[in-house]
Amino acid sequence: MRAVYLDHNATSPLLPAVRAHLVELLDADLGNPSSLHESGRRARHVIDVARERVAAALGVHETEIVFTAGGTESIQLALLGAANAAGRTRGLVASRIEHSAVLGALEVAAALGHPTELVPVDAHGFVDPAEIARAAARCAAGAVSIQVANNEIGTVQPTAAIAAAARACAPRPLVHCDAVQALGRVPVELARWGIDLASFSAHKLGGPSGVGWLWVRRGVALAPPMRGGGQEHGLRPGTEPAALWSAAALALELTVREQSAAAARWSAQCRRIHAALASELPELALHGPPLDDARRLPNTLSLGLAGVDGKILVTKLDLAGLRASAGSACASGSAAPSHVLQALGLDENRARGGLRVSLGWNTSDEDCKRAVEILRSVLSPLRASR
Ligand code: PLP
Repeated sequence: MRAVYLDHNATSPLLPAVRAHLVELLDADLGNPSSLHESGRRARHVIDVARERVAAALGVHETEIVFTAGGTESIQLALLGAANAAGRTRGLVASRIEHSAVLGALEVAAALGHPTELVPVDAHGFVDPAEIARAAARCAAGAVSIQVANNEIGTVQPTAAIAAAARACAPRPLVHCDAVQALGRVPVELARWGIDLASFSAHKLGGPSGVGWLWVRRGVALAPPMRGGGQEHGLRPGTEPAALWSAAALALELTVREQSAAAARWSAQCRRIHAALASELPELALHGPPLDDARRLPNTLSLGLAGVDGKILVTKLDLAGLRASAGSACASGSAAPSHVLQALGLDENRARGGLRVSLGWNTSDEDCKRAVEILRSVLSPLRASR
């Protein structure tokens, strides 16, 4: 029997239409887009169209889109590019529950001499805009980075309020959003949020891995950490993979079109999964905002059972036919407790016990039913043996 895949926040399988488009382009004689001959010109055209389609799907101008090799690279370009441009006296501010791509960029900036600050979150993972403003003022922030939605617990931040509080600081910092998990799950409203930079990744949407893009609001100047052939407005050098970028643009279009219907479906499926488990395991914790709070990702459930190790649980679930994650996928290779769960105030033991279930474009009701059966069969004996 096919395993049930509920790990879309780690990566989502390729959408069939995206796969077909990618395969077609891989056979399409695309050269180096900088070459002047026909193969090069063809590749350049594919990229131009991909950029226009990404921009149109996000309601921005095509000159504002910089393709990259994924969410991590977009984030590094945004934050280190902003820090370099602002100078060493200006700091960087983010929350404690950011993805390691953001935390890593702050570490690099700190090593270069920039002041940095991580702001705490409340028990549901929300950032207080006033805390961001105070931290930004303390370190004369050149940039503030805020995750629109958390990959592990699904908390959706009050992005517009945080951006407004940051913008009111003097000197004014740039505001960057890590929108990697938000895209396709909640509406992405770059203009309403009042931000300057936003990072995205294609593989969370059913697009190819190794592709992302950074939205850079017109007029924002970055000093890029990488130099080379001048591609992507000089911000991201390197020969462009035209086929991958075109496939990413298609994944984005299809995902944005489906977003509100998919969100309603996931939300109902998550509620059913949670209700079925909670009736049998009343001590099962739900991390992040409650299910009836609109400020959460509709596709994500972060669960926890005290005394149960998340890594062991994920291995048992895998053997039983359910693919899920212990906390975030990036942290699950190590035995470290989740920094996100710790930031919510959970002790180390509970912070090792997180289980993340995340739904995506191909999750059926039947998948959810089977997932519940597998979760019950694996969790009940674990709980009995504690
Ligand atoms: N930001 C968030 C919130 C993520 O969940 C991820 C991936 O897990 C990233 C950034 C990094 O994206 P990528 O895997 O494309 O480098």
